[in-house]
Amino acid sequence: MNAKNAIKLVDVEIAGEVIIDKKCSKCKKSICCNSINQKIPAPKSKEDFDHLLWQISHQGINVFKDADGWFLLIETNCSHLLEGGVCGIYDNRPWVCREYTNDFCEFDESIEEASEIFFSTHKQLEKYCRKRFKKWDKRFTIYD
Ligand code: SF4
Ligand code: SF4
Repeated sequence: MNAKNAIKLVDVEIAGEVIIDKKCSKCKKSICCNSINQKIPAPKSKEDFDHLLWQISHQGINVFKDADGWFLLIETNCSHLLEGGVCGIYDNRPWVCREYTNDFCEFDESIEEASEIFFSTHKQLEKYCRKRFKKWDKRFTIYD
């Protein structure tokens, strides 16, 4: 999870009772607690993209590029997220979660909408690779 993807999920606490912020309470999927953005080196070679194709073949793995570079978007639920969007370790939550605010978050604009390039399937990424590399289909020939 990077800074973009952490959360200040519970930001009002009254008399020991935890109250979920209004905006977050409308976010039924608790989007930012259920995914991780992992920055990766910018892929350049056919080998780099071939490796990304392997990664995106796995469930819950997406690849995107925005102004900050290339990332894996990994859809995976935080084990501390409780029913109703409450963080089970709120007082002890990681720094990346503390830093995050919901002023403008994935509830307002999805990563797919905000990114320059977004791939959610092997097919989409492979199509991109074919356009980017003329000899994409010959990338394995040196190993034959
Ligand atoms: S994505 Fe935004 S609205 Fe949804 S839980 Fe995270 S901070 Fe709250
Ligand atoms: S630790 Fe808490 S705030 Fe951080 S992602 Fe998990 S549930 Fe959300």
